[in-house]
Amino acid sequence: MARGPRWHDGWWRPARACPSPNFGPRPPGAAVTLVVVHSISLPPGEYGGDDVEQLFTNRLDCAAHPYYAGLRGLAVSAHFFIRRDGATLQFVSCEQRAWHAGASRWRGRENCNDWSIGIELEGLEGRGFEASQYRQLATLLRALVGRYPIEEAVGHEDVAPGRKADPGPGFDWTGLQRALRRRRPRLPRADATRP
Ligand SMILES: [Zn+2]
Repeated sequence: MARGPRWHDGWWRPARACPSPNFGPRPPGAAVTLVVVHSISLPPGEYGGDDVEQLFTNRLDCAAHPYYAGLRGLAVSAHFFIRRDGATLQFVSCEQRAWHAGASRWRGRENCNDWSIGIELEGLEGRGFEASQYRQLATLLRALVGRYPIEEAVGHEDVAPGRKADPGPGFDWTGLQRALRRRRPRLPRADATRP
């Protein structure tokens, strides 16, 4: 691992910076207390290509696949994207508001984008994720907890129930909790499955 500061203006150095235009300011005084975990793959279920990166930077060729017709004109982003091999890209500074959660609510509070970090895992709802992704997610969460007042990590399905289903039942919250060990944000879904 490289030496030196791990963060620069909300950019995490171990990630490859891939700046997206799809972001805005957080509301004044908004503390970043939530992490929202997502899954995405383009085309859905196909891994290893560059199309997620293209989507988040508004460069996706929407004629390249029938599924992409529905993505035309979409301006979305996440702070981070963790590939199947654990390689991590960052699109938006954590100081800024990324556009990942959409209409959302958690613990009675609307617009989770205002006060959250969005992390996309390369994957598909209902399918599993790779050990390298859990390891990298745990590393990233520890880095975030060290830098921001993160209290909880939840799924997109938790903040937009009925509308979103990612990362889905293939995501192992209990395994993530184990990987985090100490200094971890609360993971309510893992807590819920505890006997
Ligand atoms: Zn999502």
